Amino acid sequence: MTAAALPPSRHPADSVHSLAELDEAVTHCRACPRLVGWREEAARVKRRAYQDWEYWGRPVPGFGPRDAALVLVGLAPAAHGGNRTGRIFTGDPSGDLLYAALYDIGLASQPTSVSRDDGLELYGVRITDPVRCAPPDNKPSVTERDTCGPWLARELAFMRPTIRSVVALGGFAWQSLLPALSAAGWEVPRPRPVFGHGARVLLPATDGGPSVELFGCYHVSPRNTNTGRLTTAMLRRLLADAAHAAGLRTR
Ligand code: SF4
Repeated sequence: MTAAALPPSRHPADSVHSLAELDEAVTHCRACPRLVGWREEAARVKRRAYQDWEYWGRPVPGFGPRDAALVLVGLAPAAHGGNRTGRIFTGDPSGDLLYAALYDIGLASQPTSVSRDDGLELYGVRITDPVRCAPPDNKPSVTERDTCGPWLARELAFMRPTIRSVVALGGFAWQSLLPALSAAGWEVPRPRPVFGHGARVLLPATDGGPSVELFGCYHVSPRNTNTGRLTTAMLRRLLADAAHAAGLRTR
């Protein structure tokens, strides 16, 4: 039975009691047949350059401290990036740019992220995806996005005591985040705010708790960076703004 076929209260994400438990449980999820097939096929066939790798081939959990004040949200793991290394944004050009920028502003211990055991640490920032399995052509279906959504909503709910700002890396992340933030206890305005690079929206908590500020940022994909749509300077500036909104110090 798929998670989509389960009543909302029976989604596997509802059975976990902590973010540590969620990070483990999500790696066993098989709710999306197409994505399970794709991620495992990529892990079996491998890219020629990575024939020596033992691919992860499973859903990729979030990375970074579980009490982070800032959360970055991407799209989904790359077939030969996160799906190979088992760490989000690790082993592909998008991740190279993102981790270098985090290092530049003082939120990462090193500028590169190449494997799960490379010693990288993030400071006050966690990175996650709305879809945890590598999709063909980096394009999950709406059903797959919605099936994976409760994992993100639950992750954000566990982090509510510490999160103060969230960055949506691209329009897909933005659209995925609005319902997830709402489910996790923040008020999303109507009409829904529109994605754009530099968009900022303050979302009050529904229970009087701390609000969270949502930032829009172009995705760090080669398509955006190679065309100059997103430059390293733009990325650094936006991440620094989001970090400051979260109360983090940058350099
Ligand atoms: Fe499970 Fe999400 Fe992967 Fe679908 S995309 S199989 S819901 S982890």
